[in-house]
Amino acid sequence: MLVAKELDVKENEHYHNHERVVYFEHEAAGLKAIISVHNTNLGPSLGGCRMNPYETQQHAIEDVLRLSRGMTYKSALAGLPLGGGKSVIIGNPRSDKTPALFEAMGEAVEYMGGSYITAEDVGTSEENMESISKNTKFVAGLPLSVLQARVENPVGGNPSPYTAFGVYCGLKAAVKYQLKRQDVAGLKVAVQGLGSVGYDLCRFLDDAGAALFVTDVNQEVLEKAKSEFSNVHVVGLDDIYDMPVDVYAPCALGATVNDETIERLKCKVIAGAANNQLQRHRHDQMLHDKGILYAPDYVINSGGVMCVGYEFFQLTENPMPYALNEENLKNHVSEIENVTMKIFDYAKQHNLPVGAAADQLAEEIFLSAGDMKHAANS
Ligand code: NAD
Repeated sequence: MLVAKELDVKENEHYHNHERVVYFEHEAAGLKAIISVHNTNLGPSLGGCRMNPYETQQHAIEDVLRLSRGMTYKSALAGLPLGGGKSVIIGNPRSDKTPALFEAMGEAVEYMGGSYITAEDVGTSEENMESISKNTKFVAGLPLSVLQARVENPVGGNPSPYTAFGVYCGLKAAVKYQLKRQDVAGLKVAVQGLGSVGYDLCRFLDDAGAALFVTDVNQEVLEKAKSEFSNVHVVGLDDIYDMPVDVYAPCALGATVNDETIERLKCKVIAGAANNQLQRHRHDQMLHDKGILYAPDYVINSGGVMCVGYEFFQLTENPMPYALNEENLKNHVSEIENVTMKIFDYAKQHNLPVGAAADQLAEEIFLSAGDMKHAANS
């Protein structure tokens, strides 16, 4: 049986006015999970379900609070009628996964009454989402075969190509703003990590005539890049920070922009897919002081959440004033270029580092939606 316990997180340093945080246990299924809803002013909260063997419940609470708040900001600037939420399952994704565990997680998602929509994340897969969907409709990131059985011409599926396209759009905005260049032809771009997103980003850059400096722990993918792209140089894992390039595109790990690397970076622009690129809040100001333009990670990598959101809308109800199809999704993702430009303008106007400017703009969007909601209800 599923047991739910509302958590009071007001004293937690990551509280930031979270609306609701619930701890779930299902003994028979081996489920221990937390669902965190940060803000639903713009719509139901959407965010992935992460599975991780957290050492303590406290660690899990901190992680889920941080991540769910981040989703509110991401969806607000992505122009989606969605709020921010996230869930974590406390367990080892290598050894603890069973269909029953995810079916119980589906019950937990359903318990939230539609205020939280889940999707895949680190440690969970499309198949796990299918198990969750047995007990709730508030789930996206389902396998294509499942989507095809439910709707004609499904949008959604693998979000990585949309993330890559969005990162490319954000990168172009940064290049226009900082380097006064209309395109990336002839520019040198260092791409760290040629995985699902990084490799597709390289393809966009290569097609547009940029020179690529790439690194990855996976030799195979580097060989593939050498055979496919016209102007590509493979560099060492640590050497990527010293390259005399125009743009650094982190597409592997978080926290690669830190005290040590900021000293070394020669680029004028940072624009990549990785989440949480800045190790500390203060690195936003450090980049600003050094004259490096940072395209905020959560803004330019939001093509993925747009894709997941569209998939959910197509399976439930369409809140957009147009049809949900691939063309309109692509148009929506391409808006990342304008949004990123708007953030740069706002940062300049208010003499703010770019990350802080993005956060302020996001807050304006979701807080004013809250005021409107409040006024309508009173
Ligand atoms: P991925 O796992 O497919 O790719 C990561 C790549 O980085 C792999 O090729 C891996 O070998 C490489 N790598 C690992 N350690 C490295 C190191 N030390 N140096 C260089 N390369 C290294 O992941 P992805 O889906 O392409 O996502 C990349 C980043 O973008 C992640 O931080 C992810 O959280 C973020 N992101 C992804 C999406 C998406 O739609 N996939 C959406 C938003 C954000």
